[in-house]
Amino acid sequence: MELKVCKFGGTSMADGNIILSAANIIKADAERRYVVVSAPGKRFSGDVKVTDLLYQCSDAFESNDLATFETTFHKIRTRFTNIEKEIGKDLGMQEALNLVEREILAGAGRDYCASRGEYFAAKIMSAVLNRPFVDATEFVRFDEDCVLKEETFALASEVLSRYPEAVIPGFYGLGADGKVKTFSRGGGDISGAIVARAVKASLYENWTDVSGFYACDPRIVDSPKWISELSYQELRELSYMGANVLHSESIFPVRSAGIPIRICNTFRPEDKGTFIVKTDKRKPSENVVTGVAGKKDFSVISLEKSMMNSEIGFVGKVLAILERHGISFEHLPSGIDTMSLVIDNIHLKDGALETLVNEIKTEIHPDRIYTHENIALIATVGHGMAKNVGTSARLFKALSEANINVIMIDQGSSELNIIVGVDNEDCAACIQAIYHEFF
Ligand code: ASP
Repeated sequence: MELKVCKFGGTSMADGNIILSAANIIKADAERRYVVVSAPGKRFSGDVKVTDLLYQCSDAFESNDLATFETTFHKIRTRFTNIEKEIGKDLGMQEALNLVEREILAGAGRDYCASRGEYFAAKIMSAVLNRPFVDATEFVRFDEDCVLKEETFALASEVLSRYPEAVIPGFYGLGADGKVKTFSRGGGDISGAIVARAVKASLYENWTDVSGFYACDPRIVDSPKWISELSYQELRELSYMGANVLHSESIFPVRSAGIPIRICNTFRPEDKGTFIVKTDKRKPSENVVTGVAGKKDFSVISLEKSMMNSEIGFVGKVLAILERHGISFEHLPSGIDTMSLVIDNIHLKDGALETLVNEIKTEIHPDRIYTHENIALIATVGHGMAKNVGTSARLFKALSEANINVIMIDQGSSELNIIVGVDNEDCAACIQAIYHEFF
Protein backbone atom coordinates (compact mmCIF):
# COMPACT_ATOMS: atom_id res chain seq x y z
CA MET A 1 0.00 0.00 0.00
CA GLU A 2 1.13 3.53 -0.77
CA LEU A 3 1.80 5.79 2.18
CA LYS A 4 0.98 9.46 2.57
CA VAL A 5 2.14 12.02 5.11
CA CYS A 6 -0.35 14.82 5.77
CA LYS A 7 0.59 18.10 7.35
CA PHE A 8 -2.21 20.32 8.62
CA GLY A 9 -1.45 24.02 8.98
CA GLY A 10 -2.71 26.47 11.60
CA THR A 11 -6.03 27.35 9.93
CA SER A 12 -6.80 23.62 9.65
CA MET A 13 -6.28 23.31 13.42
CA ALA A 14 -7.92 26.60 14.43
CA ASP A 15 -10.83 25.20 16.47
CA GLY A 16 -12.40 21.91 17.50
CA ASN A 17 -14.81 21.69 14.58
CA ILE A 18 -12.12 22.31 11.98
CA ILE A 19 -9.92 19.72 13.70
CA LEU A 20 -12.79 17.22 13.40
CA SER A 21 -13.06 18.01 9.66
CA ALA A 22 -9.31 17.53 9.27
CA ALA A 23 -9.62 14.19 11.09
CA ASN A 24 -12.35 13.13 8.63
CA ILE A 25 -10.05 13.96 5.72
CA ILE A 26 -7.35 11.76 7.27
CA LYS A 27 -9.74 8.89 7.95
CA ALA A 28 -11.15 9.04 4.42
CA ASP A 29 -7.91 7.60 3.01
CA ALA A 30 -6.19 4.62 4.66
CA GLU A 31 -2.90 5.67 3.04
CA ARG A 32 -2.83 8.84 5.20
CA ARG A 33 -0.91 7.24 8.03
CA TYR A 34 1.37 9.92 9.44
CA VAL A 35 0.00 13.30 10.44
CA VAL A 36 2.02 16.43 11.30
CA VAL A 37 0.22 19.43 12.77
CA SER A 38 0.71 23.14 13.37
CA ALA A 39 -0.52 25.09 16.36
CA PRO A 40 -4.08 26.48 16.14
CA GLY A 41 -4.00 29.49 13.82
CA LYS A 42 -6.45 32.31 13.15
CA ARG A 43 -10.18 31.49 13.30
CA PHE A 44 -11.21 34.79 11.72
CA SER A 45 -9.48 37.88 10.43
CA GLY A 46 -8.07 39.82 13.37
CA ASP A 47 -7.72 36.68 15.49
CA VAL A 48 -4.27 35.85 16.95
CA LYS A 49 -2.43 32.60 16.22
CA VAL A 50 -1.58 30.50 19.29
CA THR A 51 2.12 30.66 18.29
CA ASP A 52 1.96 34.47 18.37
CA LEU A 53 0.31 34.35 21.81
CA LEU A 54 3.09 32.05 23.00
CA TYR A 55 5.75 34.45 21.72
CA GLN A 56 3.93 37.28 23.50
CA CYS A 57 4.02 35.22 26.72
CA SER A 58 7.72 34.64 26.32
CA ASP A 59 8.34 38.38 25.73
CA ALA A 60 6.27 39.26 28.80
CA PHE A 61 8.16 36.74 30.92
CA GLU A 62 11.53 38.02 29.68
CA SER A 63 10.61 41.60 30.47
CA ASN A 64 9.24 40.56 33.88
CA ASP A 65 5.74 41.74 33.00
CA LEU A 66 3.86 39.00 34.82
CA ALA A 67 0.45 40.68 34.47
CA THR A 68 0.70 40.54 30.64
CA PHE A 69 2.06 37.01 30.89
CA GLU A 70 -1.01 35.91 32.87
CA THR A 71 -3.58 37.60 30.58
CA THR A 72 -1.91 36.18 27.47
CA PHE A 73 -1.51 32.70 28.93
CA HIS A 74 -5.18 32.83 29.88
CA LYS A 75 -6.07 33.37 26.18
CA ILE A 76 -4.03 30.28 25.25
CA ARG A 77 -5.70 28.30 28.03
CA THR A 78 -9.14 29.32 26.71
CA ARG A 79 -8.23 28.34 23.11
CA PHE A 80 -7.19 24.85 24.15
CA THR A 81 -9.92 24.20 26.71
CA ASN A 82 -12.53 25.31 24.14
CA ILE A 83 -11.07 22.87 21.62
CA GLU A 84 -11.21 20.15 24.26
CA LYS A 85 -14.95 20.86 24.73
CA GLU A 86 -15.62 21.08 20.98
CA ILE A 87 -14.08 17.70 20.25
CA GLY A 88 -15.94 16.21 23.21
CA LYS A 89 -12.95 14.52 24.87
CA ASP A 90 -11.40 14.96 28.29
CA LEU A 91 -7.69 15.42 27.64
CA GLY A 92 -6.77 16.85 31.06
CA MET A 93 -5.94 20.08 29.28
CA GLN A 94 -6.10 22.33 32.39
CA GLU A 95 -3.49 20.30 34.28
CA ALA A 96 -1.27 19.94 31.20
CA LEU A 97 -1.39 23.71 30.67
CA ASN A 98 -0.62 24.36 34.35
CA LEU A 99 2.49 22.24 33.99
CA VAL A 100 3.62 24.11 30.87
CA GLU A 101 2.96 27.46 32.56
CA ARG A 102 5.18 26.41 35.47
CA GLU A 103 7.92 25.27 33.07
CA ILE A 104 7.88 28.62 31.24
CA LEU A 105 7.95 30.55 34.52
CA ALA A 106 10.88 28.38 35.61
CA GLY A 107 12.82 29.61 32.54
CA ALA A 108 12.28 26.78 30.03
CA GLY A 109 13.11 29.23 27.23
CA ARG A 110 11.57 31.03 24.28
CA ASP A 111 11.65 28.11 21.83
CA TYR A 112 10.12 25.73 24.37
CA CYS A 113 7.34 28.26 24.97
CA ALA A 114 6.69 28.78 21.22
CA SER A 115 6.64 25.02 20.58
CA ARG A 116 3.78 24.26 22.98
CA GLY A 117 1.11 25.20 20.43
CA GLU A 118 2.18 22.35 18.16
CA TYR A 119 2.68 20.04 21.13
CA PHE A 120 -0.91 20.41 22.34
CA ALA A 121 -2.32 20.43 18.80
CA ALA A 122 -0.69 17.04 18.20
CA LYS A 123 -1.94 15.68 21.53
CA ILE A 124 -5.46 16.72 20.51
CA MET A 125 -5.25 15.23 17.00
CA SER A 126 -3.77 12.05 18.44
CA ALA A 127 -6.78 11.71 20.78
CA VAL A 128 -9.29 12.47 18.01
CA LEU A 129 -7.75 9.90 15.63
CA ASN A 130 -6.83 7.47 18.36
CA ARG A 131 -3.30 7.21 16.94
CA PRO A 132 -0.04 7.37 18.91
CA PHE A 133 1.56 10.76 19.62
CA VAL A 134 5.26 10.79 18.73
CA ASP A 135 7.15 13.85 19.93
CA ALA A 136 9.33 15.61 17.36
CA THR A 137 12.10 15.86 20.00
CA GLU A 138 12.60 12.13 19.52
CA PHE A 139 14.11 12.63 16.08
CA VAL A 140 14.42 16.25 14.83
CA ARG A 141 17.96 17.39 15.69
CA PHE A 142 19.63 20.79 15.23
CA ASP A 143 23.33 21.66 15.48
CA GLU A 144 24.88 24.55 17.48
CA ASP A 145 23.92 27.00 14.70
CA CYS A 146 20.32 25.71 14.73
CA VAL A 147 20.78 24.07 11.33
CA LEU A 148 18.95 20.78 10.86
CA LYS A 149 21.32 17.84 11.33
CA GLU A 150 21.50 15.13 8.66
CA GLU A 151 21.14 12.46 11.38
CA THR A 152 17.51 13.60 11.76
CA PHE A 153 16.42 11.49 8.78
CA ALA A 154 17.95 8.20 9.95
CA LEU A 155 16.69 8.80 13.49
CA ALA A 156 13.20 9.67 12.22
CA SER A 157 13.09 6.47 10.11
CA GLU A 158 14.16 4.42 13.09
CA VAL A 159 11.70 6.00 15.54
CA LEU A 160 8.75 6.05 13.14
CA SER A 161 9.33 2.45 11.98
CA ARG A 162 7.98 1.48 15.40
CA TYR A 163 4.63 3.08 14.59
CA PRO A 164 2.48 2.10 11.59
CA GLU A 165 0.68 5.40 12.07
CA ALA A 166 1.35 8.45 14.24
CA VAL A 167 0.61 12.09 14.99
CA ILE A 168 3.65 14.36 15.28
CA PRO A 169 3.91 18.03 16.28
CA GLY A 170 5.57 20.23 13.62
CA PHE A 171 7.85 23.26 14.02
CA TYR A 172 10.34 21.98 16.61
CA GLY A 173 12.97 19.47 17.59
CA LEU A 174 15.94 19.22 19.92
CA GLY A 175 18.94 21.56 19.84
CA ALA A 176 22.59 20.68 20.45
CA ASP A 177 22.13 21.81 24.08
CA GLY A 178 19.37 19.25 24.60
CA LYS A 179 16.68 21.94 24.73
CA VAL A 180 13.66 22.40 22.48
CA LYS A 181 14.50 24.40 19.32
CA THR A 182 12.07 25.67 16.72
CA PHE A 183 12.40 26.16 12.97
CA SER A 184 11.73 29.62 11.55
CA ARG A 185 8.07 30.66 11.33
CA GLY A 186 5.94 28.35 9.24
CA GLY A 187 8.51 25.58 9.83
CA GLY A 188 5.86 22.93 10.42
CA ASP A 189 6.02 22.44 6.64
CA ILE A 190 9.66 21.36 7.01
CA SER A 191 8.71 18.92 9.79
CA GLY A 192 6.12 17.36 7.47
CA ALA A 193 8.74 16.99 4.74
CA ILE A 194 11.18 15.35 7.18
CA VAL A 195 8.55 12.79 8.18
CA ALA A 196 7.64 12.17 4.52
CA ARG A 197 11.26 11.39 3.66
CA ALA A 198 11.81 9.29 6.80
CA VAL A 199 8.85 7.01 6.16
CA LYS A 200 9.48 6.92 2.37
CA ALA A 201 6.06 8.39 1.64
CA SER A 202 4.67 8.26 -1.89
CA LEU A 203 3.12 11.71 -1.37
CA TYR A 204 3.49 14.61 1.06
CA GLU A 205 0.11 16.31 1.39
CA ASN A 206 0.22 19.82 2.81
CA TRP A 207 -3.29 20.81 3.93
CA THR A 208 -3.89 24.52 4.19
CA ASP A 209 -6.61 27.10 3.50
CA VAL A 210 -6.02 27.63 -0.24
CA SER A 211 -6.37 25.21 -3.14
CA GLY A 212 -2.74 25.50 -4.20
CA PHE A 213 -0.46 28.02 -5.83
CA TYR A 214 -1.61 30.85 -8.02
CA ALA A 215 0.46 32.58 -10.68
CA CYS A 216 0.59 35.58 -8.35
CA ASP A 217 -0.77 36.80 -5.03
CA PRO A 218 -4.62 37.03 -5.24
CA ARG A 219 -4.43 40.13 -3.01
CA ILE A 220 -2.49 41.89 -5.79
CA VAL A 221 -4.24 40.60 -8.94
CA ASP A 222 -7.91 39.55 -9.01
CA SER A 223 -8.44 35.81 -9.62
CA PRO A 224 -4.95 34.98 -10.88
CA LYS A 225 -4.36 31.75 -12.80
CA TRP A 226 -4.23 28.62 -10.61
CA ILE A 227 -1.11 26.46 -11.12
CA SER A 228 -1.72 22.72 -11.42
CA GLU A 229 1.94 21.68 -11.34
CA LEU A 230 5.22 23.24 -10.26
CA SER A 231 8.76 21.91 -10.13
CA TYR A 232 10.61 21.89 -6.80
CA GLN A 233 12.86 24.65 -8.19
CA GLU A 234 9.95 26.85 -9.22
CA LEU A 235 8.35 26.34 -5.84
CA ARG A 236 11.56 27.28 -4.07
CA GLU A 237 11.93 30.47 -6.11
CA LEU A 238 8.30 31.52 -5.70
CA SER A 239 7.97 30.72 -2.00
CA TYR A 240 11.32 32.30 -1.17
CA MET A 241 10.16 35.42 -2.95
CA GLY A 242 6.97 35.76 -0.97
CA ALA A 243 4.41 33.26 -2.31
CA ASN A 244 3.20 32.41 1.15
CA VAL A 245 1.73 28.92 0.71
CA LEU A 246 4.61 26.70 1.81
CA HIS A 247 7.86 27.30 3.73
CA SER A 248 10.58 27.77 1.11
CA GLU A 249 12.88 25.23 2.81
CA SER A 250 10.34 22.44 2.94
CA ILE A 251 11.30 21.07 -0.47
CA PHE A 252 14.81 19.99 0.57
CA PRO A 253 13.95 16.82 2.52
CA VAL A 254 11.53 15.55 -0.14
CA ARG A 255 13.32 16.67 -3.30
CA SER A 256 16.28 14.33 -2.87
CA ALA A 257 13.86 11.42 -2.40
CA GLY A 258 11.67 12.55 -5.32
CA ILE A 259 8.54 12.63 -3.13
CA PRO A 260 5.90 14.87 -4.71
CA ILE A 261 4.12 17.48 -2.60
CA ARG A 262 0.43 18.21 -2.99
CA ILE A 263 -1.02 21.45 -1.63
CA CYS A 264 -4.60 20.77 -0.58
CA ASN A 265 -7.42 22.85 0.90
CA THR A 266 -8.97 21.58 4.17
CA PHE A 267 -12.03 23.71 3.45
CA ARG A 268 -12.43 22.36 -0.12
CA PRO A 269 -10.98 18.85 0.06
CA GLU A 270 -12.46 17.93 -3.33
CA ASP A 271 -10.19 20.47 -5.11
CA LYS A 272 -7.26 18.97 -7.00
CA GLY A 273 -4.64 21.28 -5.49
CA THR A 274 -1.17 22.02 -6.81
CA PHE A 275 1.37 19.21 -7.28
CA ILE A 276 5.07 19.90 -6.82
CA VAL A 277 7.25 17.43 -8.67
CA LYS A 278 10.75 16.92 -10.11
CA THR A 279 11.53 19.11 -13.10
CA ASP A 280 11.66 16.16 -15.50
CA LYS A 281 8.31 14.86 -14.25
CA ARG A 282 6.59 18.23 -14.65
CA LYS A 283 4.24 18.52 -17.63
CA PRO A 284 5.54 21.27 -19.94
CA SER A 285 3.60 24.37 -19.02
CA GLU A 286 1.54 26.17 -21.62
CA ASN A 287 2.84 29.48 -20.21
CA VAL A 288 6.30 30.94 -20.68
CA VAL A 289 6.09 32.21 -17.10
CA THR A 290 4.81 30.03 -14.26
CA GLY A 291 4.42 32.68 -11.59
CA VAL A 292 5.40 36.11 -10.29
CA ALA A 293 6.15 36.85 -6.64
CA GLY A 294 7.62 39.76 -4.75
CA LYS A 295 9.12 40.63 -1.41
CA LYS A 296 9.71 44.09 0.04
CA ASP A 297 12.39 45.59 2.27
CA PHE A 298 15.81 44.96 0.82
CA SER A 299 18.78 47.33 0.56
CA VAL A 300 21.38 47.49 -2.17
CA ILE A 301 24.99 48.55 -1.69
CA SER A 302 26.51 49.37 -5.08
CA LEU A 303 30.20 49.92 -5.64
CA GLU A 304 32.23 50.99 -8.64
CA LYS A 305 35.92 50.50 -9.13
CA SER A 306 37.84 50.69 -12.40
CA MET A 307 39.41 47.39 -13.49
CA MET A 308 37.46 45.51 -10.81
CA ASN A 309 37.05 42.63 -13.26
CA SER A 310 40.78 41.94 -13.44
CA GLU A 311 41.52 42.35 -9.73
CA ILE A 312 41.75 38.81 -8.38
CA GLY A 313 39.94 38.31 -5.07
CA PHE A 314 38.05 41.64 -5.18
CA VAL A 315 34.60 40.14 -4.57
CA GLY A 316 36.07 37.85 -1.91
CA LYS A 317 37.35 40.86 0.05
CA VAL A 318 33.95 42.54 -0.05
CA LEU A 319 32.17 39.37 1.00
CA ALA A 320 34.64 38.83 3.84
CA ILE A 321 33.35 42.06 5.39
CA LEU A 322 29.81 40.71 5.33
CA GLU A 323 30.97 37.41 6.75
CA ARG A 324 32.73 39.18 9.61
CA HIS A 325 29.39 40.72 10.59
CA GLY A 326 27.46 37.48 10.10
CA ILE A 327 25.38 39.08 7.34
CA SER A 328 24.16 37.06 4.37
CA PHE A 329 23.30 38.55 0.99
CA GLU A 330 20.52 37.62 -1.43
CA HIS A 331 21.94 38.60 -4.82
CA LEU A 332 25.18 39.85 -6.27
CA PRO A 333 24.58 41.39 -9.66
CA SER A 334 27.79 42.69 -11.21
CA GLY A 335 29.21 44.49 -14.24
CA ILE A 336 32.81 44.97 -15.43
CA ASP A 337 33.61 47.73 -12.97
CA THR A 338 30.56 47.50 -10.71
CA MET A 339 29.00 45.17 -8.22
CA SER A 340 25.93 45.37 -6.03
CA LEU A 341 25.06 43.55 -2.85
CA VAL A 342 21.39 42.99 -2.23
CA ILE A 343 20.73 42.43 1.48
CA ASP A 344 17.50 41.77 3.38
CA ASN A 345 16.77 44.70 5.73
CA ILE A 346 16.26 42.16 8.50
CA HIS A 347 20.08 41.87 8.69
CA LEU A 348 20.62 45.62 8.63
CA LYS A 349 19.18 46.76 11.94
CA ASP A 350 20.95 49.14 14.34
CA GLY A 351 23.10 50.99 11.80
CA ALA A 352 24.57 47.85 10.19
CA LEU A 353 24.20 49.32 6.67
CA GLU A 354 26.33 52.33 7.58
CA THR A 355 28.93 50.12 9.26
CA LEU A 356 29.21 47.94 6.14
CA VAL A 357 29.55 50.95 3.84
CA ASN A 358 32.26 52.47 6.04
CA GLU A 359 34.25 49.27 6.23
CA ILE A 360 33.99 48.70 2.45
CA LYS A 361 35.25 52.27 1.93
CA THR A 362 38.26 51.82 4.23
CA GLU A 363 39.23 48.34 3.16
CA ILE A 364 38.30 48.21 -0.54
CA HIS A 365 38.68 51.87 -1.61
CA PRO A 366 35.96 51.84 -4.28
CA ASP A 367 35.82 54.79 -6.71
CA ARG A 368 32.19 55.23 -5.74
CA ILE A 369 29.81 53.59 -3.28
CA TYR A 370 26.11 54.29 -2.84
CA THR A 371 23.08 52.66 -1.30
CA HIS A 372 19.44 52.19 -2.16
CA GLU A 373 17.17 51.40 0.76
CA ASN A 374 13.65 49.97 0.80
CA ILE A 375 13.72 48.03 -2.40
CA ALA A 376 11.31 45.28 -3.40
CA LEU A 377 12.52 42.28 -5.37
CA ILE A 378 10.13 40.78 -7.88
CA ALA A 379 10.86 37.34 -9.31
CA THR A 380 9.37 36.16 -12.57
CA VAL A 381 9.74 32.39 -12.51
CA GLY A 382 9.23 29.57 -14.98
CA HIS A 383 11.03 26.76 -16.81
CA GLY A 384 9.23 27.95 -19.94
CA MET A 385 11.54 30.99 -20.12
CA ALA A 386 14.63 28.92 -20.93
CA LYS A 387 15.72 29.49 -24.52
CA ASN A 388 12.52 31.42 -25.20
CA VAL A 389 13.63 34.48 -27.14
CA GLY A 390 12.07 37.80 -26.15
CA THR A 391 10.87 37.02 -22.60
CA SER A 392 12.93 39.73 -20.93
CA ALA A 393 12.10 42.18 -23.71
CA ARG A 394 8.39 41.64 -23.00
CA LEU A 395 8.93 41.96 -19.26
CA PHE A 396 10.88 45.22 -19.43
CA LYS A 397 8.53 46.71 -22.03
CA ALA A 398 5.61 45.99 -19.67
CA LEU A 399 7.46 47.70 -16.82
CA SER A 400 8.34 50.72 -18.92
CA GLU A 401 4.72 51.05 -20.09
CA ALA A 402 3.63 50.95 -16.44
CA ASN A 403 6.19 53.71 -15.79
CA ILE A 404 8.13 51.62 -13.26
CA ASN A 405 11.76 52.42 -12.67
CA VAL A 406 13.93 49.30 -12.45
CA ILE A 407 16.79 49.72 -9.98
CA MET A 408 18.41 46.33 -10.34
CA ILE A 409 18.22 43.31 -12.65
CA ASP A 410 19.44 39.80 -11.94
CA GLN A 411 19.00 36.82 -14.21
CA GLY A 412 20.77 33.53 -13.57
CA SER A 413 22.07 31.58 -16.54
CA SER A 414 19.64 28.79 -15.65
CA GLU A 415 16.98 31.12 -17.11
CA LEU A 416 14.58 29.96 -14.39
CA ASN A 417 13.98 33.45 -13.10
CA ILE A 418 14.38 37.12 -13.82
CA ILE A 419 14.60 39.25 -10.71
CA VAL A 420 14.08 43.00 -10.76
CA GLY A 421 14.54 45.44 -7.92
CA VAL A 422 12.09 48.35 -7.73
CA ASP A 423 11.09 50.85 -5.04
CA ASN A 424 8.96 49.29 -2.29
CA GLU A 425 6.00 51.46 -3.36
CA ASP A 426 6.16 50.04 -6.90
CA CYS A 427 6.02 46.42 -5.73
CA ALA A 428 2.31 45.72 -6.41
CA ALA A 429 2.26 47.70 -9.68
CA CYS A 430 5.32 45.80 -10.89
CA ILE A 431 3.76 42.40 -10.15
CA GLN A 432 0.53 43.48 -11.87
CA ALA A 433 2.37 44.71 -14.97
CA ILE A 434 4.35 41.48 -15.32
CA TYR A 435 1.33 39.27 -14.62
CA HIS A 436 -0.84 41.00 -17.22
CA GLU A 437 1.94 40.78 -19.82
CA PHE A 438 2.29 37.01 -19.50
CA PHE A 439 -1.21 35.83 -18.54
N1 ASP B 1 3.02 27.54 14.34
C1 ASP B 1 4.20 27.98 13.69
C2 ASP B 1 3.99 29.38 13.11
O1 ASP B 1 2.95 29.98 13.30
C3 ASP B 1 4.72 27.00 12.69
C4 ASP B 1 3.77 26.56 11.60
O2 ASP B 1 2.59 26.87 11.62
O3 ASP B 1 4.22 25.85 10.69
O4 ASP B 1 4.88 29.89 12.48
